[in-house]
This record gives sequence, structure tokens and C-alpha cells, in this order.
Amino acid sequence: MRCAVYVRVSTEMETQKTSIAHQISYFEKYIGERNWILYKVYQDRESGVQTKNRGGLQQLLEDSRKEKFDVILTKSVSRFARNTLEGLTIIRELKGRNIRFITIEDGFDSQEYDEFMLTLLLSMAQKESIKISERIRFGKLCRARNGYFNGSTVPYGYIRNHEKGLLPAGDLSTLVVQKIFKMYLEGKGLYKIAKELNEKSYPTPGQAAGRSNGSKIWHQSTIRKILGNPVYVGDMIQNKTKTVDVLTGKRQKNQESDLICISRTHEGIIDLQTFEEVQKRLTLKQREQIGNQKYLFSNLLICGECGSKMHFKKDKEAYLCGKVNKMGKKMCEGAYIRQEMLKVVVIKELKKIITEKISEEGLLEEIKKEIYKKTDEKRVKKIEQLIGKAVGKKERLLELLLRNVIDEGSYQRKVKEIQIEINTFEDRKKELLKELKDGEKQIILQVNQILEMKDLDFMTIQKLIHHIKIFKEKKIEISYAFRV
Ligand SMILES: [Zn+2]
Repeated sequence: MRCAVYVRVSTEMETQKTSIAHQISYFEKYIGERNWILYKVYQDRESGVQTKNRGGLQQLLEDSRKEKFDVILTKSVSRFARNTLEGLTIIRELKGRNIRFITIEDGFDSQEYDEFMLTLLLSMAQKESIKISERIRFGKLCRARNGYFNGSTVPYGYIRNHEKGLLPAGDLSTLVVQKIFKMYLEGKGLYKIAKELNEKSYPTPGQAAGRSNGSKIWHQSTIRKILGNPVYVGDMIQNKTKTVDVLTGKRQKNQESDLICISRTHEGIIDLQTFEEVQKRLTLKQREQIGNQKYLFSNLLICGECGSKMHFKKDKEAYLCGKVNKMGKKMCEGAYIRQEMLKVVVIKELKKIITEKISEEGLLEEIKKEIYKKTDEKRVKKIEQLIGKAVGKKERLLELLLRNVIDEGSYQRKVKEIQIEINTFEDRKKELLKELKDGEKQIILQVNQILEMKDLDFMTIQKLIHHIKIFKEKKIEISYAFRV
């Protein structure tokens, strides 16, 4: 087993206990005891509240993708990730690559972690997740956009000029871009535009870039990307305007600091007015679509009678078989259910499953068994053994004194030494027991949060439920996104 170690330390709070050297020597011992091989120590130092400097972590993740090691060892989950979601996302990714992830302090071991718990934890971390996922999305967006400059992909309609960066290609592709914007302003939808371009066999971005595996067909998504790409007005700023919060339907201002974008980098091929008008229309469209997604069970409901998707009827606050909705009652006997009623049923069912699968006590036992047994309880036992040994030594010394093998002076000296040892062990034992108890409290809190699930929100539902079939007699069949 090749083992990578990740250490992070705050330079302002550096004490003996948290110092990097201390952490490293601890891990070296840990690895040695298991006959593993230390591959590399990755480290990050941070000062104050700034946590941006995480080059060590990035390197670790990069190397994990190259499968340079089999295990990652770190002090605690909180040392590793800034929040639950980030941690879970990383752990999931690692798991997918069969890389084991172990934290010493909280006794986490990804090998013993089950997907059900992961899903529940994720749904609890959802509040955080809304913000984070937005950030991740924009981060990705910008990295991709940045890649235009140094990467191999030149935006459709452009060619690369080594001195000036991007230059309009001045060929058919440039004209196609202008045509796409024009068609959209004429009121044609993405589907229509894609269809027309396909009929005329205009070169697709994949073909223009000469990618052998590039798509030879224009897709709606390709058109959408082109319409929203500010590269066509000469700059690389994206999402500077307000965006829509997926969950609440509210509009939000993006954090500009999250974007790494450059403006006025090259000649545009679309005028600003056209571009802005297109953006306005796209945003309107998007808002309409997101408005639809907001309904709690969007995209999860299937008519049990005919198998078609169910549509939300705003006026009735209910879902109706899509076939009936579109083509009338003759086509299907039709499933219909009010959102409120469905919500009540789903909450009840979810609670039942969670309670049954692992009752509160059972869950605690299970977690204790899996998480703590291997670390804290063993550590407590080890300490107890050490205490026992020391007490034994003391007793043997007394015997030696009584048999006059040693004198009173050296007896007192030795006993004092041993007593200090014992006191240290006792202190450590108390600490460990307290940690065990705190850990339990934390788990109880989390379990209660799950069980007290009074209301369901969009994210939780979409995460926990795979799909729901509704039959005409209001019979409901729920399929979950986790093992039941
Ligand atoms: Zn139907």
C-alpha cells in the first residue's frame, strides 16, 4: 500500500501539537506499524483566515487521479476540506478510484463508509451545497474559458494567431456564428436553428476544429453555448450579470472574485447590441425553465398507467399524466396527484425507511462499531494496558525494596518517575473518553436532524429519490437513489 499524507497547519496557531513536523512523525509511525510505504507528504500552510492557498491539496488530488498512491492519510476531515460537501465530493471521487481515505482524529475510513450514510449526509449539507455548487460551477466555467488561450480548442469562428491571440477565422465558420445570432433574434429556437444548420451541412465546431471524434451534428446545446459565449464580442467575461438561484428561483449576483476572465482580448465578430439582446432573451428563457424545475417533484414523477412523465399543473398545484395533459383523457386512464398529498406521503415513507433501516440506537451502535472501535476504543485500551504495566512495575519495586535489593532512596526516585508516567496516561485516557463522548453527541445530533425531517425541499427530494410512479388509484411507488 502506497500512502499519501496530507497536512495543513495554520502558521499563526502553530504549537507543538499541531506543527507539521509533529503531524508528519505521527503519520510515519502509523504507516510503519502497518507496513505501508510513505509515498509523499503534501502540505499546506495558511495564515489568518485566508484558506485560498491550497496548492498541496490540489497536487494531492491531481496525483490521486494519476493513481500514484492507494491510501490518503490526514488528521481530520475538517483539516482536509473546508466543508462537508467538499469533503464528501472528494471522498466520493477518491472512492470511485479505489483510493482509501483515512482520518486519524475523527476515525473516518472510507472503506467502511456506506453510500446510504453518504447520501443522507449530503442531503444535510445541502444548505451549504447550494452556494458551493454554484461556486464550483463558475470555477469550472472559468477554467474552461481560460483554457481557450492556452488549450488546443479555439472557439468556433476563430483561428489562433500566435501574436495577437484569437483572430476571426473569416471563413464559413465566422459566418455561421453570425447567422446563429441572427436566427435567434428572428425568434427561432435552439432546436430550429440546429435543424437548419444540419440541413445545410454547415461544419460543426467539432469538424471545424478537425477533431476526429467531434460531433458531425449540430445540437441545441452547441447553439446555446455559442449564443452565450462573450468570446464573440471580443472579451472573456462571463456571468458578470446576475444569475438565477436554482433552488429559490431568486436572482443572485455572482462573486466576481470567483471568475478568472479577461476582457477585450481580441476582435469580436458579433456587435455588442446584438449580443446583449440575445443574452436578455436567453436569460428570460432560462428563468422560465428554472421556474418549472422548482416544483418539488419535477422530473421524478412517472404515470404508472402509461409510463409517460407527469406535468405540474400550476392552477391545481398537482401533477398530471403528461399524455393526458397533452392529448386528453382518451389516451391514458391518467394519474393525478396533488403536490401536498404526495409530499406528506414521501416524508412519511422516507422517515419510515430511515428509522427501519437503522433505528436510532442501531445506527449509533453501527457507527460506533465502525468508526470508533478501530481508533479510539483501541487507543483507550492501549492506554489502559500501559497504566497496568506501570502499576505492575511499581508493585515489583516495592517487592525489591522489601527484599532489600534496592534502597529507600532509589525506590522513592523510581516510584516518582513511574507515578508521573501513570498520571500522563490517565490524563490521555480522560481526553480520549471525552472525545468518544463528543463524537457520539455529534452523531445523535445528526440523526435527529434526519428523523425530524418535517419538511422536504427540492434538493433533498431530488437527491434521495430516483423516481416515483403514480397510479390511477393514487397508488404510489417510490424508488430511492440509495440502497433500501
Ligand atoms: Zn398516463
